[in-house]
Amino acid sequence: MTRIVRAQVAHTPLNPFVHEPALEAFEDGALAFSGGRIVACGVFQEVCAACPDAEVIDARGAVLLPGFVDCHVHYPQIGVIGSMGLELLDWLRLRALPQEVRMADESYAALVADRFVRGLAANGTTTALVFGSHFTAAQEALFSAAAGLGLRVASGLVVSDRGLLPALHVAAETAYEMSRALIERWHGRGLVRYAVSPRFSFSCSEELLDVCGALGRETDGLLITSHLNENASEIELVAELFPWARDYLDSYERHGLLGATSVFAHDVHPTYGELRRLAAAGATVAHCPSSNAFLGSGLFPLRGHVEAGVRVALGTDVGAGTGLSMLGEGLAAYQAQMLAPGGIRLGPAHLLWLATAAGAAALGLGDEVGDFTVGKSADFVLIRPEERSTLAAVLERSESLEGAIGAVFTLAREESIAEVRVAGEVVWPAGVS
Ligand SMILES: [Zn+2]
Repeated sequence: MTRIVRAQVAHTPLNPFVHEPALEAFEDGALAFSGGRIVACGVFQEVCAACPDAEVIDARGAVLLPGFVDCHVHYPQIGVIGSMGLELLDWLRLRALPQEVRMADESYAALVADRFVRGLAANGTTTALVFGSHFTAAQEALFSAAAGLGLRVASGLVVSDRGLLPALHVAAETAYEMSRALIERWHGRGLVRYAVSPRFSFSCSEELLDVCGALGRETDGLLITSHLNENASEIELVAELFPWARDYLDSYERHGLLGATSVFAHDVHPTYGELRRLAAAGATVAHCPSSNAFLGSGLFPLRGHVEAGVRVALGTDVGAGTGLSMLGEGLAAYQAQMLAPGGIRLGPAHLLWLATAAGAAALGLGDEVGDFTVGKSADFVLIRPEERSTLAAVLERSESLEGAIGAVFTLAREESIAEVRVAGEVVWPAGVS
């Protein structure tokens, strides 16, 4: 059966950093889908004419956007959001890592996994590259919870063998065996994919980074994800531990971890050489502005990335990030660029692109999700302001849909997410079909 959702519809089929205008918006718009695939998108009357037998779902007053793609978020850290007053290395030692150790408890991990995936869906996130747990059972719990809810999740066992808390360390050979078992069990199962996840190069020996490189080469379609150039003290530590490396990126590159399926979080303090090599490899930087502000890591040089041709997408980086909302993260990106020397003046189209299509491309899903091109999966979020809310007041007076999307990024959060679908199936709120 074909269904049509009638709403204010907007998406970014073109990259607004290259094309102007990039936003495609329909005030009285519609999205038609059948069998989980988009069959039409455009003006309501035209979509109706193209799909005369379709069931119409009237969602006028709501804004319909592609499902959000979060390219960097730590599942074990949901409980430490809002732990104030520390920069990266102290925050890790005193706040994040003790929480990661708790994930050794399987029943606790299952509870966190369930809350985490529901939190993603409740915020309109339909696809995510999730930084997982150091423990196999906890990683299984995340995959199970994501598959159960029907989200598109890429994730993997986080591996480290030095520099963290001893409970989080694992020998390189064991890391290989545990990762292989998870890859065989989960990679390509439904909407789940595997992401090789060395925590940072400063918490991994050269032997372990070699193992990660081998894992990435052995199986088609794997993602590789880690952290890069987040904070000055961290960068100094990497330089001490890898005296032969030209720069931080080199510590991954020499071990075969830089490629078109690599996603590195942060890159707040890159060198020009790193930007050039990231661009040449087709790797993506997951920009995490709320985390960068929260930990005082710095202002992201977006212009440098864009001018060098580096692909950039957005990540919430919970728990240093301030929440699971990609709308909130878009606002944080906007604010950071307004403050950054030489920052790019971002508009609603940039924020929507960064929160949707850019992330889809980063995760190798550009042909599948990210915008409403006919044939793609019907992954979307319906945003409806609560009655008498500030957002409702702003949207009532909005003069254009583009302006309304600016207001949505600024004001809409969990309470405004009315419905979320992946491949045409409702994943939020639970129990609706
Ligand atoms: Zn992170």
